[in-house]
Amino acid sequence: MQRQKFTRPEASVPLMIEMPINHFSKIHSSKEGFAQLEIEPKGIQKKMSRASTQSTTVQCNGKSIKIHAIQTGTVAVKRSHRSHPTAHFLTPIKISLDKHFTEFMPIWSWLIEHPEGNIVIDTGENAKVMNPDYFKPAGKVIANYSKKNFRFNITKENEIGFQLRHLNIKNDSIKNVVLTHLHIDHTDGIKDFKNVEFIVNEQEFKRPSGHIPELVPNWFKPKTVQYKNDFITVFNQAYPLTNREDLLLIPTKGHTNNHASVLFKTDDFDILFAGDVCYHQEQLVNKKLAGINADYKESRKTYEKISKYAKQRQLILLPSHDSNSAIRLKERQFL
Ligand SMILES: [Zn+2]
Repeated sequence: MQRQKFTRPEASVPLMIEMPINHFSKIHSSKEGFAQLEIEPKGIQKKMSRASTQSTTVQCNGKSIKIHAIQTGTVAVKRSHRSHPTAHFLTPIKISLDKHFTEFMPIWSWLIEHPEGNIVIDTGENAKVMNPDYFKPAGKVIANYSKKNFRFNITKENEIGFQLRHLNIKNDSIKNVVLTHLHIDHTDGIKDFKNVEFIVNEQEFKRPSGHIPELVPNWFKPKTVQYKNDFITVFNQAYPLTNREDLLLIPTKGHTNNHASVLFKTDDFDILFAGDVCYHQEQLVNKKLAGINADYKESRKTYEKISKYAKQRQLILLPSHDSNSAIRLKERQFL
C-alpha cells in the first residue's frame, strides 16, 4: 500500500487541538504532583512504583497465550489536557494557560504471544525525546508548544526494543505491530521494528491528527487496512488481525479522528487495548471526556459503545496511560 503524504494543520490553534502528548523534561517532583494526586483514583501513585514489564496468561481457543505489559517510560501533561469539566473545541487554549501538570503517567505498549505470531500493540516512547532539540525537525511552533505543555521521563532501558530483547523476542517472530493512532508516544518506538509489518487503519493513516512525520523513520510504510462491516456487536466494524478472528482492530474514534483499539476475545473474557480512548478507566466510567480530543462528539460515542459492549461481555479496559492497566489485566478487573 502506498504511503500517503502526511498533512499538518495550518494554523497554530488547530495544531494545538490535535497535538499529541509529548515532550521532554526531567522528573517533576513537586507540590503540583501531590496536589494532583488528591483528584486521582485511589492507589494510582502506589501502583506506579510497581509498574514495569508485567506478564499474564490467558486462554484462547484452549491454548495458553502470554500477554506482556511493557512500560516505555512516563509522561506528564497539563491537568486540563487530561481532564476538563467543559471539554470542547476551545479547551486547548485553556490547556496552554494551565500552569499545573499531572503526575507522571505510564506509556504502555503490549505484546501478545499469539500462536499465529507475536503481535505488538503501539511502540511507546524513546529516550531521545529527552533531548531539548528532539522536536527541532518539526519546526518552532511544535517545538515550543511541546516544551511548554509536555514532560517526559524516558531512559534507553524503557524503550520497547530494549525490553523485547530482554524478553528474548526477535523481530522475525513478530507478525505485526499494530498502531492505535499516530501520536509520537505511540510511534517513537517504530525505529525498533525495521522489516516488521505495521498495521494502521486506513483512515487514520490518510487523515492523522497531531502526527509529526519528521520524527518517523522514512522506511515506515504500514499496511493500511479497512474495517469490515457487520463484523461485531456494538462497534459494528472490525478488521481481523488473526485468521482465527480472535484479535480485532475496531474503530474507537474521538481522541484522533480515526483512533482505533485492539479487542482480544479470549475464551473467558475480552480485553480492549484502548490506546488513548481515555487517560484512565474512571474517566470512561464517570463519562468525563479528556480535555483534548480531535472530535469530542465521537469520543463520547466511543465511551458509550465501550460501556455497552462491557454489559454484553466481561471486558478488561487497558488505556495506554492508565497506571492501573497492567494490574487490572493481571488481576482480571473488569469494567
Ligand atoms: Zn494520543
